[in-house]
Amino acid sequence: MQEASDGRSFLEKWIYLNKGDVLTRFPPEPNGYLHIGHAKSITINFGLAQKYGGGCNLRFDDTNPDTEETEYVESIQEDVCWVCQGLDMDKCRDGGKPWVGTPVYASDYFQKMYDFAIDLIKHGKAYVDSQTPEEVQKNRGGGPNNLPGVDSPFRDRSVAENLRLFEEMQAGKHAEGSLLLRAKIDMNHPNMNMRDPPMYRIRFSHHHRTGDRWKVYPIYDFAHGNEDAIEGVTHSICTLEFENHRALYDWFLDNTSIVPSRPYQKEFARLEVQGAFTSKRKLLRLVRDGYVTGWDDPRLLTVRGIRRRGVRPQGVKRMCDAVGVSDRNSVTPWDLVEECWREDMEPISKRRLAVLDPLAVEIMDYDKQELIEGVTDLPDQSAADASCTRALSFSKHVFIDRSDYQENPPEGYFRLGKIGSEVKLRYSYVIKLEEVEKDAAGKVVKLKCSHDPSTRDIMPERKPKVIHWVNAGDCLDAEVRLINPLFLPIPDPLPEGKDWVEYMNPEAWVQCSAKVEKSLGQCVLEDRFQFERCGYFAPDYDCFGTPPKLTFNRVVPLKESADK
Ligand code: ATP
Ligand code: MG
Ligand code: MG
Repeated sequence: MQEASDGRSFLEKWIYLNKGDVLTRFPPEPNGYLHIGHAKSITINFGLAQKYGGGCNLRFDDTNPDTEETEYVESIQEDVCWVCQGLDMDKCRDGGKPWVGTPVYASDYFQKMYDFAIDLIKHGKAYVDSQTPEEVQKNRGGGPNNLPGVDSPFRDRSVAENLRLFEEMQAGKHAEGSLLLRAKIDMNHPNMNMRDPPMYRIRFSHHHRTGDRWKVYPIYDFAHGNEDAIEGVTHSICTLEFENHRALYDWFLDNTSIVPSRPYQKEFARLEVQGAFTSKRKLLRLVRDGYVTGWDDPRLLTVRGIRRRGVRPQGVKRMCDAVGVSDRNSVTPWDLVEECWREDMEPISKRRLAVLDPLAVEIMDYDKQELIEGVTDLPDQSAADASCTRALSFSKHVFIDRSDYQENPPEGYFRLGKIGSEVKLRYSYVIKLEEVEKDAAGKVVKLKCSHDPSTRDIMPERKPKVIHWVNAGDCLDAEVRLINPLFLPIPDPLPEGKDWVEYMNPEAWVQCSAKVEKSLGQCVLEDRFQFERCGYFAPDYDCFGTPPKLTFNRVVPLKESADK
């Protein structure tokens, strides 16, 4: 085995580092916005570091100058910090300090990696290939007939010639695609990744951080392990697609004589969620072609999307823990995701009354105005804690939800239907249906009711169904969005001539013109609400825009079995 530059073997370092000095990394390529799968990787990498008292680097894997943009660097950093709010970050170090989100950049190691490549060339373990890209591809062999590889005619160039050509590549003396630096491994290796893999290619693009200084850029398989080694990463965790790249990861680290440490790669199953896409390419299409409103569309499972929807970082953590870490790929059912987010919402959401599809009710025999005081925000909260109670105003005119009335009620319908049917208004009186008012088109526009004055603070023996309401004279208009999965089931494979975007769920965003209790006008961005009998909701950014527009997104519905 190789000795590291300070004289200790990688094994000594490994043992030493395992004494609580675990260093992991989260290495996004800044070529798009983060999604829920990245959130899982963040949770795993920072979570392991915390558990073993170590650290985790946020590393921008910015080795491809063609696709990377500063816009993405900034958004990723913000999103990582947000996801990390769901973890207990005090216990995770970054360069000896509690993690504060200082990123590192793979592009800072371009010189070191270049030196590593020179080291391999000097030891006869890398060569410059002058074959065309087509020849390189063809001579790799493999394919359906499992062809053997064919050695490049340039494979036996001298060290001196390889050094000169590589230096010329970096000096910009050769056209893009004309030369390739390759590792000299084995053109007949059963693992295709080991058939003299590319290490460096020529690119004349402008890099977002190093500008035009570099004309050669390292390829992922060569770069990644070196980045890990330069940082002293101990555990390099990636998704299962990279399992058969591990031999190559190891080869580069074991064959470069000057790598400063010896990290190890381990793979886990990527997170796939039913009814959603977690591929940057597909997400980009949805955003660019206007299928969604932007990267933070609440229907998307981007980090920005779920954040805007109202999911909390603690809910993301809960979901990642529930899905667990596996070495086999699977699709996470949507129900499980919702269940985790619901569990996170349940204890912290303030109970509020909101009517999503309002139907007017007039209580004919009630002519007062009254305040129902001491209504608690949370179900298990002591009523004595006056700071978390509120007063609801009540009057002759209220709104109930249209779904709590049926003109032709089926057998066993216990809400308002037949004349004489009763319901109890939550925190208020039992009302009885007396008359139904329709407009010219025959649509029911108002229910006229009477009330039972003895029932305000008690549930009568006959136990009518309890429904939600708002005071028509003292409520606010709000836009409420019911967010559902963005995609319907997509057949695999896609039928002839079909495009996956055609399977968007038309009910992924159901907009309601709601009436909500007045206290919601004072909400702040951090608030979470349970609109009683409707689900869990969060204020949308539009509440705080100019002009402000009272808008709520449904984070998750109530449990199916919950009281409807
Ligand atoms: P995409 O396929 O969406 O382009 P990527 O893997 O190319 O994603 P990177 O920026 O390279 O995106 O990802 C950064 C890290 O996040 C990698 O370590 C990668 O393994 C991890 N990651 C990406 N997608 C998922 C996922 N769906 N589940 C778990 N981890 C993921
Ligand atoms: Mg990647
Ligand atoms: Mg990718």
